[in-house]
Amino acid sequence: MAKLYKHIETKLIHAGEPEPLIGGAVSMPIFQSAMFEYTGETSYHDLKYIRLNNTPNHIALHQKLAALENAEAALVTASGMAAISTTLLTVLSSGDHLLAQECLYGGTHDFITKDFATFGISFDFIDDDPDSWKRKLRPNTKAVFVETMTNPLLQVTDLKAVVEFAKAHGIVLLIDNTFASPVNFRPPEWGFDLSLHSCTKYLNGHSDIVAGAVIGRADLIEKITHKLNHLGGSLDPHACFLLHRGMKTLAVRMKCQNESALKIAKFLEDHQAIEKVNYPGLESHPGHQRARELFDGFSGMLSFELKGGVESAERFIQNTTLPVIAPSLGGIETLITRPATTSHSGLSPKDRQKLGISDSLIRVSVGIEATEDIIEDFEQALTHLIS
Ligand code: PLP
Repeated sequence: MAKLYKHIETKLIHAGEPEPLIGGAVSMPIFQSAMFEYTGETSYHDLKYIRLNNTPNHIALHQKLAALENAEAALVTASGMAAISTTLLTVLSSGDHLLAQECLYGGTHDFITKDFATFGISFDFIDDDPDSWKRKLRPNTKAVFVETMTNPLLQVTDLKAVVEFAKAHGIVLLIDNTFASPVNFRPPEWGFDLSLHSCTKYLNGHSDIVAGAVIGRADLIEKITHKLNHLGGSLDPHACFLLHRGMKTLAVRMKCQNESALKIAKFLEDHQAIEKVNYPGLESHPGHQRARELFDGFSGMLSFELKGGVESAERFIQNTTLPVIAPSLGGIETLITRPATTSHSGLSPKDRQKLGISDSLIRVSVGIEATEDIIEDFEQALTHLIS
């Protein structure tokens, strides 16, 4: 009888695992072979070759990832940016137009603003106002790109309205779901065509590989796979193995990070040295009600402003002893950074200012350490700032 896995915790462990187990191996073995014996395949894309994204390690991951978001299909890629760029270059061609949320991960923002022109693709940024989306819509608009929670401000746009808008106008709807992870939000269930991930972050969770994924409609995944086969951004089987292993603990990690981030956000919000905290789990967050309706958790990401500007922000970061001062996110260790100097340094100061990303904004990726230890460390760092 076919096995049915209802809950994401179970799917993370069992979905997509080879049946029968290969040689009885309980863990998916690594198929470190560039090519496989020819068995009469009639299409180029079906030849068994690492770059063609179809080794047993790729196939197991594709099945597991699709199951996690209750989607038709999935594809792993060499990085989150490989997933994003390959997807955009598949759904858009020369002459097409993209509507993109204005506050995006810096790499995506840079790709759209700096590279699109060379492909003959145009774009407009959209804010939170559905009326303005209609005004920016053009006859050649082919796709809309949003993030579940924006990086680094943790804004939650009206995702249900975006779905209605895209469906009404027959546009492909893409969402970067990296910050939420499939544990907190599953875009295909809400009508999104494609959900993109930097698996470098929560899905792998151990800060030891770079990887990406596209999850969603099978017809689009097939086209994106063929584009990826041509562009060459395939994930190496050894990295596939690490991602596969890391993903199995996603649910326990994510639940711990959701809970810990909420406690830390509340602690910061109540502290006299803090100006503002951005975390969708806080009742003061403008997108809190939306987040409650859509998400199963508010993620381990938060950002905040201290009173006292860049100098205070830098001193606070240097005063902390527990987090690693580093860009990126979603790992088991707490990371702290100023996005203006790392993830969003590619944007001009004017663009950052327009989006509300100040030079003093601090972003924290909460790890799985004891929450009390993180709060104690932040408290001493803030005390040293004031005294
Ligand atoms: N999407 C988001 C939201 C990110 O934060 C990042 C990286 O920080 C990416 C995509 C790009 O992922 P990668 O570094 O795996 O290419």
